[in-house]
Amino acid sequence: MLVRADLNVPLDDGRVADDTRIRASLPTLQLLLERGAAEVVVCSHLGRPKGEDPAFAMKPVEERLREFLPDERIRVLENTRFNPGETKNDPDFARELADDLELFVNDAFGSAHRAHSSTVGVAELLPAYAGLLLERELEELGKLLGDVERPFVLISGGAKVEDKLGVLEHLGGKADQVLVGGKMAEQIRDENPLTFEVDLPTDVVATAEFAENAESRIVPYDDLPEGWLGLDIGPGTRESFAGTIARAKTVFWNGPMGVFEWPRFAEGTRAVAEAVAKASAFTVVGGADSVRALTEMGLVQEVDWASTGGGASLELLEGKELPGVAAIPEA
Ligand code: ADP
Ligand code: MG
Repeated sequence: MLVRADLNVPLDDGRVADDTRIRASLPTLQLLLERGAAEVVVCSHLGRPKGEDPAFAMKPVEERLREFLPDERIRVLENTRFNPGETKNDPDFARELADDLELFVNDAFGSAHRAHSSTVGVAELLPAYAGLLLERELEELGKLLGDVERPFVLISGGAKVEDKLGVLEHLGGKADQVLVGGKMAEQIRDENPLTFEVDLPTDVVATAEFAENAESRIVPYDDLPEGWLGLDIGPGTRESFAGTIARAKTVFWNGPMGVFEWPRFAEGTRAVAEAVAKASAFTVVGGADSVRALTEMGLVQEVDWASTGGGASLELLEGKELPGVAAIPEA
């Protein structure tokens, strides 16, 4: 059988920098092996190579996978994006992947928003089933789309503002309170396209230049000196956001509150991460960087669900149909 996993992990100098997604793929593979699969062919894309590129070879990922799951019945194919047909959902490449195999399991939630040969093409050639991770992602994220316990607090930040506006528009009106930080808050200071009320920061950590050790000071959100940048939410905002999160019964957090990679601008994200971890609410965190922040702070076990799918989770919560999911009959 063929398993499309999401083994698209960050690499650092040819090494696996974070194996979260590899570990998240294991339960489905283990289950298939336990059920007596003769051979499990695993495929995934890795990074964004333009054709064959040794810097994006699956080898280090395969090695890590084998450390967790040393079973000769597993065969890992080379990076699907080495074939230029993959991203075009080329049927020839899909036939190549499906060749000689009798069924297809899609466990790659993180790629479900893309109609590629390895996500959609093969699902049209072989009987297709959802893997455990994909199923769980749909279940947990799906809870946010149904009846939620209130207050429902939505927290939005990060840098990819365009990507996140769709979710804000779809879920924002349903949330009881929407907390906005990060670059998102910076971007809507002068021109706010949102049609519902949001809680913006009251203060920010501001600097004159975008640099790790730049001099910084706390300024009111609406009084940022000309040409300065707000790189984190300030202490007053942290306290009020944390208070709102503490009262929530449902929380969805997507996007760091500041440039958390730099210690001087990490306190806002830390305050929100701690509040979400402590909340006695159903808590879901989406977005690769938000989940990374949570993991680095040792808090990832404290939330109900940390989604492995960045773009896919956003598209699902925007109310869009995910092509990789639509291609599986029972999903
Ligand atoms: P996610 O991966 O969680 O969806 P994004 O990719 O949208 O989040 O954004 C994460 C990035 O946003 C981080 O690298 C962080 O440094 C950056 N960021 C957060 N706040 C700001 C800000 N105020 N100004 C510039 N960059 C920011
Ligand atoms: Mg990101």
